[in-house]
Amino acid sequence: MTQILKTDIIPIEYDENTKESALELKKLLEQNPLFFKTVLKKYPKISYLKRKHSFYLQTNEPINILERMYNGNIDNCNKKDWLDKEAGRALLLYTINKKIKGQYDFSELEEDTINQFIAYGYIHETKAYDKIDSYLLNMTKHQQEKIEEWLYNKYSFELLNYLIEDQYQKIVQRLLSDSEEKIEETISTMIRITSEEELLIEGEEQACTIYMSPEEIDSLCKEFLIKIDSTLNLYNLFCEAKKTGVFIEEAKDKKIIENDIDIDDWCCFQHKDGTWYIYSPKTGTILDSIYKIHEFVHYIINKAPTMLEENIYALKELPSLFFEGLMRRFLIDKGYSEEEIEKDKLSRELGISKMSSVLLDILFYIEQISNGERITFEQELMKQEEIKKLYKKLEPDQEISLDSLKENVLWTIKNSIEELIEDPLFVEETYPYIIGYKYSKILLKRTKQDKNVIANMINIIPEIKTLTTTESLNRLGLISPIEQNSKQYKKELK
Ligand SMILES: [Zn+2]
Repeated sequence: MTQILKTDIIPIEYDENTKESALELKKLLEQNPLFFKTVLKKYPKISYLKRKHSFYLQTNEPINILERMYNGNIDNCNKKDWLDKEAGRALLLYTINKKIKGQYDFSELEEDTINQFIAYGYIHETKAYDKIDSYLLNMTKHQQEKIEEWLYNKYSFELLNYLIEDQYQKIVQRLLSDSEEKIEETISTMIRITSEEELLIEGEEQACTIYMSPEEIDSLCKEFLIKIDSTLNLYNLFCEAKKTGVFIEEAKDKKIIENDIDIDDWCCFQHKDGTWYIYSPKTGTILDSIYKIHEFVHYIINKAPTMLEENIYALKELPSLFFEGLMRRFLIDKGYSEEEIEKDKLSRELGISKMSSVLLDILFYIEQISNGERITFEQELMKQEEIKKLYKKLEPDQEISLDSLKENVLWTIKNSIEELIEDPLFVEETYPYIIGYKYSKILLKRTKQDKNVIANMINIIPEIKTLTTTESLNRLGLISPIEQNSKQYKKELK
């Protein structure tokens, strides 16, 4: 039998089966009458029985929507923004994360709950209380897109500042292996090096056409290692690695699956049991020998005992990039088509160039945060206007509208946000490629006159993880990036 429970806020319709829920709900409503009066303004009643003309609740989902909304937001319900900045930012983070990865990495909340929270924030702001039912209970795809867009526009700068602050803290903690370096100096050095490496390379990746069997690849690698290291130490380590199954070719290999990590390209990874492996998804071309050398160098460095708990140091790509370049030269010297081998160099440069341009945007943001400033739309627009002035000098006839400047701002922040959500270690993982590539070019050039360059690099391999950036660079006869305004460095770069 239908019964009505009276409350100060709204009547509740129930029957014998739902009586308990109704009483519980009454208690909840009375905890914050103002909040629920606002939320339920448009409804004549709450009903456990009928959908029509009521805020309908099913017994098996007792008071969950109202309860969730209420619990998280007692203090916020009277403010203009129902979601505070932190909540809005977090919900935006979840939403973008879901879009990129197909799952919520950061939240225990269910997708429905997250969408309801966002929807309620939207309804609160637009005062569209009459749509509360459809938004909270049966959201259409169109409605969902609308609330996500609203959330993005409202909280994207909040999220960007948060993500950049996180990156800044990571640099402070990790990249600063040199205690004598100051953080401002480190960041401006990173910006300088990255802008120097923003090569703006044109071109497209091309497939190599020199096909080769795995046996031929291995024998090329061995021949190369014997040539560069007459002690045969590297050669022996390579043979040992082959014998002990370090190279894994199948993505479905147990060691990869057991580790539960995303691997889709050549890489050196550590198994849960501490052993290092190389995933080598062979392409069947001569380029496999270059990739193999690159990862093999990572392998011997990673495998070396170290005092450091985490394998993070700014120069971690330098030795691999150096030997990779040396391997290319070895193949060309052996008589393989330079044009084919250079395709690999182009692909490396395209990768570095793309990385640098994304990294540079992020580094400029980090610099701003490190100066105690916040990143705002207005400031970003001003930056774009400066770029426009420069561009105007080059192309006086081109007119750039204010709208397209605004679009540029939004596009850049969207790019940076997505990059940082997709890979929270983006800065510390990409910067080693950029600085490593720069120094590898200098060292490769030097090998033509100086035989010690290769030996120095081989000697530093077992230790490089435990040295500071400056110590490593000194040992390699390189100038620390901080002192790089010197003439010698500038000359060598040319
Ligand atoms: Zn690498």
